[in-house]
Amino acid sequence: MRIILFGAPGVGKGTQAKILSSKLNIPHISTGDILRSAIDKKTPLGIEAKRLMDKGELVPDTIMFGIIRGTLEEEQSKNGFILDGFPRTVAQAKELDKLLNELNISQKKIVAITANEDEIIKRLTNRRACKNCKQIFTLDEIKYSDVCPNCNAKDSFYQRSDDKEEVIKKRLEVFNSTTKPVLDYYNENDKVIYVDGIGKVEEISQSILQNLEVSFEK
Ligand code: AMP
Repeated sequence: MRIILFGAPGVGKGTQAKILSSKLNIPHISTGDILRSAIDKKTPLGIEAKRLMDKGELVPDTIMFGIIRGTLEEEQSKNGFILDGFPRTVAQAKELDKLLNELNISQKKIVAITANEDEIIKRLTNRRACKNCKQIFTLDEIKYSDVCPNCNAKDSFYQRSDDKEEVIKKRLEVFNSTTKPVLDYYNENDKVIYVDGIGKVEEISQSILQNLEVSFEK
């Protein structure tokens, strides 16, 4: 199954993608994670990406085309994938269609997770990431602890530089002006599955899976 998870920053795409990836046994491809890994390695791409990401701006389409092509052509993506954070522009959506066509993939499922902007701002300002395993947590989840519940690393929590309030505002602006039109593009030719992103994480995954008409063992 090829799933495109669409939604504003902070709507829960990453969390849901990880759950779906383990339930459906297909890789989770997060373009944000790919860029953050380039930043950690201080590659030329990473240095340029950091400059843009820290301002809440998008990395140029031409760079993203190369990243997505390389990733989808890898062996691990052959039997399915969950895309999280791509496409973010109409040009990227068109390029993805072209690439899927070249790879003889005719079916894709588009899942749009929705939430209101106030909730998104609250979630993004309240989240922290673990430096070691990259898992994201809310402040409520880690408040009294300095040990990561996922990988047991100590003192590893940090706030992503693009989760600061001014940057969040810019990211939402970019989402509304540049990324939202991607949904109009998909609505023209594909069926978009809309899922409410407010609620318990497990209930949202259940709702996505039901909509995808997938049965799985608990
Ligand atoms: P994310 O982790 O998906 O929220 O992405 C973090 C940041 O990485 C975004 O705010 C963008 O600066 C950059 N980024 C991730 N995916 C893309 C993409 N498909 N196109 C352009 N920039 C991206």
